[in-house]
Amino acid sequence: MIPINMLNLSNFKILNLQESENDYRFLVETKSPSPYYCPKCGTIANLYKHGKKNQLFFDLPMHAKRVGIYVKRQRNKCRECSGTFFENLPDMDVNRSVTNRLMDWIKEASLEKTFTSVAEEVGVDEKTVRNIFNDYVSELEAQTEFRTPKWLGLDEVHLLKNYRFVVTDVENKSVIDILRKRNKDVVISYLSKLKDIDKVELVAMDMWNPYKGAVNSVIPHAKIVIDNFHVVRLANEVLEKIRKANRQNVSAKEYWQLMRYRYVLLKRREDLNDFNDQIKLQVRIDMFSLLGQAYELKEQFFDI
Ligand SMILES: [Zn+2]
Repeated sequence: MIPINMLNLSNFKILNLQESENDYRFLVETKSPSPYYCPKCGTIANLYKHGKKNQLFFDLPMHAKRVGIYVKRQRNKCRECSGTFFENLPDMDVNRSVTNRLMDWIKEASLEKTFTSVAEEVGVDEKTVRNIFNDYVSELEAQTEFRTPKWLGLDEVHLLKNYRFVVTDVENKSVIDILRKRNKDVVISYLSKLKDIDKVELVAMDMWNPYKGAVNSVIPHAKIVIDNFHVVRLANEVLEKIRKANRQNVSAKEYWQLMRYRYVLLKRREDLNDFNDQIKLQVRIDMFSLLGQAYELKEQFFDI
């Protein structure tokens, strides 16, 4: 005996239920009467039944089993225009073959979980989850109004083997957008679409040239601000080059001195609190005069 209300979908009558270890499969039909008019020509009350077809829809899992619902869907034919069409299905999204309530669940779940795991959990294929998610994102984007920030931040994040372009509102410490790529064309086209671009006063960025180029061409009035971290970092990069260049034509002992404890060179002198570290630094400065000079220049550059 199948409980009449087991699906909690009042527009459908359950005809049959099959159960396996992980799945329920219902067979249902609608309780509502067939449509009164032809959706193709608009003729009223001149239709007749023209066969049925089982169509599968997925629903929210029940009792830790995935739920599939076969709807025995009525096809109608119009005497006037000979057009055929299926009956309307309440509670179902006929494009995505899921119930409306499962659709809502998938939208939220796919914000947190992978498409594959959502698909696996409810029984639909991964592509359906992806499509529902993409529609949902477009829907959210259409509802959300982004205000162009006064202080715009252009940055990147390394995701799935690629640098992704990240746009931030520096003043309000929030991420506005993430794009797949960060090349100049992408940045230019993104900036060009921003509303009220005149309101941007400052653009914070690292030293990635395409950002500078794009900002200069789209918002030339904005001042570019580079975090000093990106500037002083260059001094350490040069110091490293000199350290590595020194490796040629040196004795084994000198080689060892160059390769070990590189951090004593890269740290600021005032941050080198350990006395042993201070000795290690002095040894290297005394042993390699060029490296010593480079170290002092690095320290002076940081002081600026
Ligand atoms: Zn018709």
